[in-house]
Amino acid sequence: MKFEELSINPGILRNCRKMGYTTPTKIQQKAIPPVLEGRDLLGLAQTGTGKTAAFALPILARLNAENQQRPAQPDGGKARKIRALILTPTRELAIQIVDNFHRYGESLPLKTTVIFGGVKQGAQVEQLKRGTDVLIATPGRLLDLVGQGLLDLGQVEIFVLDEADRMLDMGFIHDVKKISALLVNKQQTLLFSATMPKEISGLAASLL
Ligand code: AMP
Repeated sequence: MKFEELSINPGILRNCRKMGYTTPTKIQQKAIPPVLEGRDLLGLAQTGTGKTAAFALPILARLNAENQQRPAQPDGGKARKIRALILTPTRELAIQIVDNFHRYGESLPLKTTVIFGGVKQGAQVEQLKRGTDVLIATPGRLLDLVGQGLLDLGQVEIFVLDEADRMLDMGFIHDVKKISALLVNKQQTLLFSATMPKEISGLAASLL
């Protein structure tokens, strides 16, 4: 299978080619078509398998297609609402994911922002005020900013829970459930995990 056989925006495919991708990995072949169709997904995949692109490419394609169906926003960036939320357990993963979104989505009119703990929140809050379509976040900082009224998740349509088993190991499952409960407009959930302990299959059953 080639990337061109997946119904992904030509701009995104060009960016993938620039990164040297010619053939979708196994998880990409399996995940991209259902995610493009708006279906929920349970992905058993580890880091290194190409799982980031498995969710990032179809999410960018869907959000971009949605933009094309909407009238242009008069006040530009600030009118952007967070439409996709990617929750990941560590700052390192969050940074890798945002870097990938920026590369796959280069030249598309979509904005991706990252927030994580362990640093002052000021610069992240400034970024959020400018508006973003995609938010990559670690759970603690996300709940902190929601608690301060600095973040509204009410327009999130697509929710990705990345490395769910590591979330569990790091004690984040309660936070994940709290965050999920805030997503009142959620239409699609993608859950990725390298292993499937019973707590994660239970969580998957409740979220998907
Ligand atoms: P990930 O599992 O998402 O952390 O990706 C692991 C590595 O594989 C990253 O360096 C990606 O840039 C790369 N990668 C992802 N998809 C492909 C692909 N279809 N072809 C070649 N490399 C890829």
